[in-house]
Amino acid sequence: MTDRFNRQIDYLRVSVTDRCNFRCVYCMPEEGADVCSREELLTADEIIQLVEIASELGLRKIRLTGGEPLVRKDLADIVSGISRLPGVTDLSLTTNGFLLAEQSAALAASGLHRVNVSLDTLRPERFAPIARRGSLDRVIEGINTARKVGIGPIKINCVAMRGVNDDEAADFAEWTLREEVHVRFIEVMPIRWNLDETVEFEPWRAHGDRGLLQLNQHSGGMLSDLEMRRRMISADELRTKIEEQHGPLEEAELATNGPARTFRVPGAKGTVGFISQISNDLCANCNRLRLTADGFLRPCLMSDGELDLRTPLRADASRETLADLFRHVVEHKPERHYLAEGQQVTGRGMSQLGG
Ligand code: SAM
Ligand code: SF4
Repeated sequence: MTDRFNRQIDYLRVSVTDRCNFRCVYCMPEEGADVCSREELLTADEIIQLVEIASELGLRKIRLTGGEPLVRKDLADIVSGISRLPGVTDLSLTTNGFLLAEQSAALAASGLHRVNVSLDTLRPERFAPIARRGSLDRVIEGINTARKVGIGPIKINCVAMRGVNDDEAADFAEWTLREEVHVRFIEVMPIRWNLDETVEFEPWRAHGDRGLLQLNQHSGGMLSDLEMRRRMISADELRTKIEEQHGPLEEAELATNGPARTFRVPGAKGTVGFISQISNDLCANCNRLRLTADGFLRPCLMSDGELDLRTPLRADASRETLADLFRHVVEHKPERHYLAEGQQVTGRGMSQLGG
């Protein structure tokens, strides 16, 4: 499918749950994180049916996400159902890695091709202040197990934040010297839950002397829109930090690296990449749609428009009717986001959208 702006739409991100075993400060509130009821969530069969229709329309790259996909008990059934669809050429998963060690073998056997693990710090003492649950050693163990069972290449998604973890850019690059990991630094996006705003901020210490992260206390504690904008750090700055320690980066190619600009420390086994969805306009090449865990199809992460597929699916709508709804959403894909101009995205949080 091609949209009004001549973009080829061939990628579907499927959120399989809005629940999560972490509470990352830029993604979820610590408390008051309402989740869908069991009835609202798409079943494994419903997800597979919708992905089948999507793949017949040319959405051949599928990424499972959430919330945390590994908390969903029937995840391996979903992976196996999707991996058998002839139209799907690439099936990947984004996870926080906490349950990856125990599930890697089953996921590989079910047909999962690749995995992205989200990891913002390599320092154990910083892990809890950012993710607020889980632990670094479990995530590293998950990455190692996934590699052992042949799920790869392994990409690491690192949300870079000024004054919180930006001083680790060179450490992440050093990791790529030792192991074949592909680290991608992601700009923190001011997307947040639709929670009551408050002007009452309380300082909250991320780590030692490094910057104070201000959490919106009234909302159960997640970064405010303003705080996320303040913490955003550009790819150029991160690149400079890496080059100060490792010398000039070389351009690198990674076939599956989507919108990331990818480089290599000379001689490294892995790569470093930068995804600058706010400072750099990635919208012109955006190829994706998103299906939320409760069955709404969204043409854009950063615009609040979405279309309910669950109701017609449960009312036994024909495949052609459902295919038309996919086409309709593609026709309404916005040209771009306006975050740089101050647009606020507050309809749903990242864990609800399938980031
Ligand atoms: N729980 C899984 C995980 O963390 O990998 C999958 C879902 S999570 C919403 C998907 C990705 O969105 C993660 O890499 C996470 O770091 C990223 N993310 C969440 N909130 C974000 C924000 N405000 N800005 C930028 N990236 C964000
Ligand atoms: Fe959970 Fe992923 Fe959001 Fe962190 S980024 S709270 S792991 S959904």
